[in-house]
Amino acid sequence: MSIRNLARPEVQAFKPYLSARAEATVQAVMLNANESPWPPPGDGGLNRYPDPQPAALRNRLAAIYGVATNQVWVGRGSDEAIDLLLRAFCRPGRDAVVLCPPTFGMYAVAARLQGAAIHEVPLVGARFELDADAVLAACDATVKLVFVCTPNNPTGTVVPLETITRLATALHGRALVIVDEAYIEFSGLPSASTVLDGHENLGVLRTLSKAWSLAGARVGSLLAGREIVDLLRTIMAPYPLSQPSVDAALAALDRDGEALMHRHVATLVGERGRVFAALVTLPGVRKVLDSRANFLAVRLDDADGVYRALAAKGIVVRNITRYPGLADALRISIGTPTENDRLLAALRGILAGGGA
Ligand SMILES: *Cc1c(COP(=O)(O)O)cnc(C)c1O
Repeated sequence: MSIRNLARPEVQAFKPYLSARAEATVQAVMLNANESPWPPPGDGGLNRYPDPQPAALRNRLAAIYGVATNQVWVGRGSDEAIDLLLRAFCRPGRDAVVLCPPTFGMYAVAARLQGAAIHEVPLVGARFELDADAVLAACDATVKLVFVCTPNNPTGTVVPLETITRLATALHGRALVIVDEAYIEFSGLPSASTVLDGHENLGVLRTLSKAWSLAGARVGSLLAGREIVDLLRTIMAPYPLSQPSVDAALAALDRDGEALMHRHVATLVGERGRVFAALVTLPGVRKVLDSRANFLAVRLDDADGVYRALAAKGIVVRNITRYPGLADALRISIGTPTENDRLLAALRGILAGGGA
């Protein structure tokens, strides 16, 4: 069965906007897009519309992620891919998604905006493990998308690849499994993109916002079979990526940039261990969750008090007490060694004597 049959009927029949840039074959005299013929001061190419799916960027991402170029859709961060997946596959008021809280908030935001129902299947136990049997039991005929975040934000816990392939196999022909790997570079684990070829209903979200230091450029990818990639192309904005973002991404993704990313990841992984070891010795710290990402979820006797006390010292962490199962927790990103030292010194001061 074709993945297209799972998409909304309007999307299956959708005639995309035909952008002038997509019509251009040879670049000789460009009089088709009502652009200015003059570049703006200081920049050579910005008077022209960008490539809707920049070939050089897709090729480089495909090489880095180990997939074929036609398995890469690239857009304004993973957030845009999440939004487009909801719009492509979920009919408002009729279809549903499965989420496993506590997890990243954008899946629910995109679902609510599209009018899709949300079936929540909580992560289970002290280690916040994905309950695959419960996920499959929640997948009635209305469920079109199952979001799996690994390493999971905000817990830092991972889902084994066998669990992902089991879900994809069981949901074949019925729903897509979307694996969000925003933090995979910090995990040392293989990507679910290694099993894309056997699973046409699998999609993998990757981003340049975390390990690659490019949150401000807004570049993220969906790695998936051709049919899913083509569906997103059909309904995407005509020019999702600005040329400066594409140029910044290409510069960061060259060989030197890749080596730098690996050094940064190694530093952050080492710091994650050091900060973890220091935190667990502090009074008032109940538990630090084992994390394979670039942050730690920390359970505290007085999470709100510590959050405010850190803010008063100019250190901003994430208050995650509103998440189910994390009412006593803060999420702390791993920074530079100096920043982490400042965090630990501040926490020692705040927690000395056991009160916030
Ligand atoms: C940070 C993050 C992203 C990245 O989103 P972008 O839109 O690519 O910046 C995606 N998923 C999760 C779980 C995240 O925490």
